[in-house]
Amino acid sequence: MLTLDVNLGDRGYPVLIGSGLLNRFGDLLGPRLVPTSAVVVSDHTVAGLYAERLLTSLGEAGCRTALLEVAPGESSKSLAVASQLYDQLSALGVDRQSAIIALGGGVVGDLSGFVAATWLRGLPFVQVPTTLEADIDASVGGKTAVNHPSGKNLIGAFHQPRLVIIDVECLRTLDKRDLRAGLAESIKHAAIRDADFFVWQRERANLILGGDEAVLAELIQRNCRIKAEVVAEDEREAGLRAILNFGHTIGHAIEAECQFGLRHGECVALGMIAANHIATHRGLLDPDQARQIRDLTERLQLPCRLPQRLDADALGRRMRHDKKFLAGHMRFVLVDRIGQARIVDDVGNAEVVGALVAIQP
Ligand code: NAD
Repeated sequence: MLTLDVNLGDRGYPVLIGSGLLNRFGDLLGPRLVPTSAVVVSDHTVAGLYAERLLTSLGEAGCRTALLEVAPGESSKSLAVASQLYDQLSALGVDRQSAIIALGGGVVGDLSGFVAATWLRGLPFVQVPTTLEADIDASVGGKTAVNHPSGKNLIGAFHQPRLVIIDVECLRTLDKRDLRAGLAESIKHAAIRDADFFVWQRERANLILGGDEAVLAELIQRNCRIKAEVVAEDEREAGLRAILNFGHTIGHAIEAECQFGLRHGECVALGMIAANHIATHRGLLDPDQARQIRDLTERLQLPCRLPQRLDADALGRRMRHDKKFLAGHMRFVLVDRIGQARIVDDVGNAEVVGALVAIQP
């Protein structure tokens, strides 16, 4: 089992990564958190595959359990679904000795984390991610949210988990497209923070795409370490943490405008290519480095162009609702060179339009 710590003082927590961890879940939880009861939140797909193992292990550890299921997909990240969960927690008589356990991808993690942050002003929370996206990004760092019709993640809270347990075996059943989508965040982490890790991924692209579990466990650990370091330096996104938004300014707008027809990671991949266009045009990023990022994105079978033409004005309007829109200009994370990024607050409309044109089909 691989481990690493998220160093946040009394809010710090370990991340455990390995194969078969769901079967040992109750024991792994033990030293960190001993809830009298646990409410596992999952979506119908993941619950059908993995809830039984988790509930059995919790039961063997002497914990009372309940399972709450939501529909799979981004549409469950809403206040309406959160409200249904509140009703169910109320009916179950959940108190502050109970823990909420998120079993699923980033949607389940963000939604149930938001419910855990807000019900009774905060319940202990455990992340059990089951997609690569959630393994390497969403499960670590304490950002929880639901969407608002005007934009993604606009309603949320910071609420750190007590523990993150990543069973790499769960990736065996994950749709290959979802596995690839998760790799966008891995390219992102390497591009903004770790040039060696960028090369490491390029050299192992085939093993990664083939689902080699030892390689995936190391990939997850390296990603979680990068994310943990950034979060430890800037938990509430006062500065540095915003570099994790590389690819997300345009990515979120594409995601909303496509009505979620593309995976989150696919939108991030497109957003990174578009942001690199801005960086190279400003003379910040060497075109060869931009090409290397594009090559790895293609190698990992992620999109570098939109599958269908999107209205640049509509995307621009979406971005103006984003949290990164400041007094007429956009905040962007731009890569200077692979392994290093900066935040700029002065990206104008013409640059954004140019970047969108660059990724149009
Ligand atoms: P997801 O949670 O929608 O999962 C994708 C699909 O895979 C779903 O249909 C799900 O049922 C299915 N699935 C999950 N695990 C499975 C498994 N092991 N086997 C088979 N099917 C499985 O999508 P996602 O990509 O994991 O998460 C995307 C969400 O995460 C977005 O809402 C994004 O905003 C959020 N996110 C949050 C953070 C954060 O810091 N909080 C970071 C990145 C992304």
